[in-house]
Amino acid sequence: MIGWACLLLGVAVAVWGITGLRAWRRGIPAELSAAGYASPTEADAELDALQRTYPECCRIEEIGRSGEGRPIRVLRIGGESMRGRSGRAMLLVTGHIHGVEYVGAHVARAVARRLVEEYGRDQKVTDLLDRAEVVVAPLLNPDAAARIWQRGGWTSIRGARYNARAVDLNRNFPVVPMPSAKGGRAWNSARARPGSLFYAGPHPLSEPECSALAQLCWRERFRAAVNFHSFGCVVYMPQAPSGSAAQRALDVFDGPFQSHQQRRYRAVRERANAIRGQLDPFLLAAFGTASVTVEVSQPPWSLLRPGRFGNMFWVWNPLDPEHWAGNDVDATIQALLAQLDATDAQIISPTNPGLYEAPEARPA
Ligand SMILES: [Zn+2]
Repeated sequence: MIGWACLLLGVAVAVWGITGLRAWRRGIPAELSAAGYASPTEADAELDALQRTYPECCRIEEIGRSGEGRPIRVLRIGGESMRGRSGRAMLLVTGHIHGVEYVGAHVARAVARRLVEEYGRDQKVTDLLDRAEVVVAPLLNPDAAARIWQRGGWTSIRGARYNARAVDLNRNFPVVPMPSAKGGRAWNSARARPGSLFYAGPHPLSEPECSALAQLCWRERFRAAVNFHSFGCVVYMPQAPSGSAAQRALDVFDGPFQSHQQRRYRAVRERANAIRGQLDPFLLAAFGTASVTVEVSQPPWSLLRPGRFGNMFWVWNPLDPEHWAGNDVDATIQALLAQLDATDAQIISPTNPGLYEAPEARPA
């Protein structure tokens, strides 16, 4: 009896292994494309096409270069008001700060596409772009994205997060000083030791990708920012003083945002500074930007399929990115509009304006 069970198990493992090997030999990048993911080159071409087709309402700007010299590009989107930008609210949407999180970039580009293509057609989109300019930065970690795509998603768990210099970019932002921080560090808090999964880098903003983003945020003083990551169906938000304008803006992500989602994401308020070096608390403290992290999609079962087990791409990305864009794009646009209403489009006062020094103010 046991012999038969072992034999059957052996055959199952062999079939699983052989199918996996064949999938691997077919070339995994082709498999990523088949699921609907764009390669970094295709994603870039998509931005170019949007600018070419809708020059009246969007344009590409290069905000800096990655460690390996790849351009970090954003799409600035703003209806009629693109011509005279003064006095309009600025909003930010980002994705792909962790190299493997392709679904975040997918959703960020879907937001950009919806805004550009529906301006003048859809009432909500038109309202939003008449009142605000939306800057979409869909690919913040282009070096890791290129490396991971080339390898078909086969990388270590650290390689899935890092930039080219082995730094976790979402731990490389200036740490907000908190005199009365309670509760200690979280398990995923920034680490000072190189090689750690959450390595913060030699000093805050040591990484060109983070420095470029910080400069953009300093220039534009965004009212709100939505940063797409994966996975878990969660919205993480930084702590803000209760009753403050920042709190009202963040509250939009604890109810109103979810009311436009089919699969509603759980809202979680992070303990102050328990993680350290993340983008959200930095943007809120330095510039008064109500910034949230949206963890797109649920844990993928696709991993159990042959050829996928142990592949980091399929740990972090769902098989159906378009489904998740459908779940999140409209909710994001509605939430950005609701945030403008919640704060009467007023700038939220930063609590630590000295946290970021503009480059020209720094001694040479
Ligand atoms: Zn992430």
